[in-house]
Amino acid sequence: MTHSVSLPHVLLLILLAFSSATYSESNCAQNNVKLQVLGSGGPELGDKRASSGYLIWINGKASVLIDAGAGSSLNFEKSSAKFEDLQAIVFSHFHVDHSVDFPTYIKGSFFTSRQNDLPVFGPEGNALMPSTTEFVNKTLGDDGAFSYLQNFVNTEQPSSYHIQSHNVPLTPHKIQHYPLTDNLSLSAIPVHHGPLAAVAWRVNVFDCSITFTGDMNNQYKTLAKLAKNTDILVMHNAIAESAKGVAANLHMKPAEMGKIANKANAKSVVISHRMLRTLGHEAETKQFMEKNYRGPINFADDLDVFLIP
Ligand SMILES: [Zn+2]
Repeated sequence: MTHSVSLPHVLLLILLAFSSATYSESNCAQNNVKLQVLGSGGPELGDKRASSGYLIWINGKASVLIDAGAGSSLNFEKSSAKFEDLQAIVFSHFHVDHSVDFPTYIKGSFFTSRQNDLPVFGPEGNALMPSTTEFVNKTLGDDGAFSYLQNFVNTEQPSSYHIQSHNVPLTPHKIQHYPLTDNLSLSAIPVHHGPLAAVAWRVNVFDCSITFTGDMNNQYKTLAKLAKNTDILVMHNAIAESAKGVAANLHMKPAEMGKIANKANAKSVVISHRMLRTLGHEAETKQFMEKNYRGPINFADDLDVFLIP
């Protein structure tokens, strides 16, 4: 028996092959993966910016919230994100400028249609800082400051959803992985932020990723490993190159930022956590970074949206 393929069939096969190749090459773009900055400032009252907060958008849905600093929840509202779409909230650490809006989100969620439990990830504790589980309980638990919201924490009490908090181990140099859905996962590694318990986060979406340094000075030299080949590296620019003492023990200098971005082979960098000591010094920051990093460097403002390059 002979077997022949008609011309329309051949054309169809070519079209299918072409469309599947296109899809696999750009599924981040196809799924409209975006980073939105909810807070580009630090803890100062005078920087005229919300404190640390970021959203990862996938297919028009706000999927991961990274940090919940002061004022970031107002920008969450302005972004038109829906709390019920969030797959997780993650914290870099529990300084006020990264965490204080957390109860604001949880109270606000009472008025949403959220039904799914909410995973919350952040570092385990140390002598100076609570673990993520402790932070959630000390904020919302039955002995917490906002114990009137304890239904969201105590699984024995009725609530439309419950918070499930998880502590990321502070094992040096070890990347921890947390899958959320088939196409979305989180990775974290401990970072040196002075004596505080702190982690950096990488959000993996389809075949792309966005990595957040959080606050750190990179003494552990772990960030480039976490951020390897990342599409967008969000770096916190809290100090100038001339900084010394406590500030330099807590934060990385611009030259170090350039070295990290280069070692990680980051496709692009977004500079955030901008403070009065670095605002107005963008040209200098860029100059120091460009000694080691040749990719695009963008300075973030509140509500800015960045696409995968
Ligand atoms: Zn900070």
